Amino acid sequence: MAREHVDVLIVGAGLSGIGAGCRLQQRCPGKSFAVLEARGAIGGTWDLFRFPGVRSDSDMFTLCYPFRPWSGSRAIVDGSSILDYLRQTAREHGIEQKIRFHHRVVGAEWSSGDARWTVEVERGATGETVHLTCGFLFTCTGYYRYDEGHTPDLEGVERFGGEIVHPQFWPEDIDYGGKRVVVIGSGATAVTLIPALARRAGHVTMLQRSPSYIIALPAIDPIAGLLGHILPKRLAYPIVRWKNVQLALAIYNFSRRRPAGMRRLLRRLLARRLPPGFDVDTHFNPRYEPWDQRMCIVPDGDLFDAISDGRASVVTDRIETLTERGLALAAGAELEADLIVTATGLEMVPFGGIRLSVDERDVDLGAALVYRGMQISDVPNMAFAFGYTNQSWTLGADLTCEHVCKLLNHMDRRGYATCTPRHPDPALAAVPFADLTSGYVLRAIDRFPKQGSEDPWQREQNHARNLRSMRKAPIEDPALEFAASGGV
Ligand SMILES: Cc1cc2nc3c(=O)[nH]c(=O)nc-3n(C[C@H](O)[C@H](O)[C@H](O)COP(=O)(O)OP(=O)(O)OC[C@H]3O[C@@H](n4cnc5c(N)ncnc54)[C@H](O)[C@@H]3O)c2cc1C
Repeated sequence: MAREHVDVLIVGAGLSGIGAGCRLQQRCPGKSFAVLEARGAIGGTWDLFRFPGVRSDSDMFTLCYPFRPWSGSRAIVDGSSILDYLRQTAREHGIEQKIRFHHRVVGAEWSSGDARWTVEVERGATGETVHLTCGFLFTCTGYYRYDEGHTPDLEGVERFGGEIVHPQFWPEDIDYGGKRVVVIGSGATAVTLIPALARRAGHVTMLQRSPSYIIALPAIDPIAGLLGHILPKRLAYPIVRWKNVQLALAIYNFSRRRPAGMRRLLRRLLARRLPPGFDVDTHFNPRYEPWDQRMCIVPDGDLFDAISDGRASVVTDRIETLTERGLALAAGAELEADLIVTATGLEMVPFGGIRLSVDERDVDLGAALVYRGMQISDVPNMAFAFGYTNQSWTLGADLTCEHVCKLLNHMDRRGYATCTPRHPDPALAAVPFADLTSGYVLRAIDRFPKQGSEDPWQREQNHARNLRSMRKAPIEDPALEFAASGGV
């Protein structure tokens, strides 16, 4: 039986997959494509995460698509506004009709003889397995598992009399009004949740093993507000977007080059927002350098307000065991709790867990190198969308989509059927794909392809530089092997 064939198969209908569909339509109008989505809804991250207060922690002027500018002056917005924005974009650009829901891609086999991928798909609705073929595979699957979050082993879980919830699976009907809540964790999710929970809970305790860097930024961008009044949107938006790209980069670069200076600056800013006598050094002075791990953003310092008002507090200690009433800590104290929230992170997974093979040989992702942050060495006709760790995801993902379109158009013009990045030099020093030391990154990074130490095998965490290099880079690159038909 003939299998359905599309020119490009996009996997995932989150921010990246919707953006990829829009870009393909704009720049490669002749290409047929479909979007396969494992879940029953679009939006990915912004549909899955429903915990109280869920919001962006990068500004919307850079998190939005450049072809659909964010209007308004609010830079940090709640998750439902982001989801609405994604749904509207998909609707306006006709991407909704291209999405097949409940289609989980489990494997993709490349055949050089046929110059195409055969993709194995599990249909969630019926449980059946179907196969499609495509000329180019574009994975927009994010970077973490949807079916599981990370929860460390907590001794005594069975004893605890209250409820335990992971933010990735927030129950809609949970009632925490007036209750004692302990949030375990110190990352972006914990600092987002705590002020939101503190509005209704009896008290919220942030229980962290070690602190993270936290920076307060205005939820409303004053410059966006001003420019929005004096300039037309089409002029104001690129200025604000570029200003925010540069600002995020400046904070990152200053942190990398002058870590001691950045640490002092952040400490001074924090101390000003916290009540007199607050032990800043124990609770907000991390062991690592600024930007060794993602920096947490709190809009308008809402976390510090909750602490100053006494609605939230911070405990820095290790958990010995859970008890009937709460958590026994290493220093001897017991924290009583009705609800424990394990904001302990994500489980990272490369390319949505899709098993890849090329000419019947499994691809060993951990041994592969990433070309221009979007293709995998020795894997033909495939790209993946990945954002930055220090700036808005969309900046990186959209740049990749642009480049994929350029590549596809180039292949059509030259009559190429395949494009394969090849290792330039086996001795090339390979480094991890993400240079963060966060637990969730370290736990999984070996399963991701590596990057090299120089262009085009390096993906810098610098959007301005990547933009220049990707836009200038010729598609015909010695690191890419093109062939007119299969059998490379
Ligand atoms: C709580 C939270 C807050 C965040 N805040 C920010 C922020 O403020 N700024 C920022 O830049 N980034 C943020 N991020 C990172 C965030 O993931 C990106 O902003 C962005 O949403 C990633 O989009 P994506 O489409 O690449 O991946 P996702 O949003 O993860 O979407 C991937 C989609 O692919 C589907 N999929 C996965 N595997 C398969 C498969 N095998 N077959 C079929 N479908 C599959 C999934 O079901 C999902 O719909 C945040 C992440 C989290 C968890």
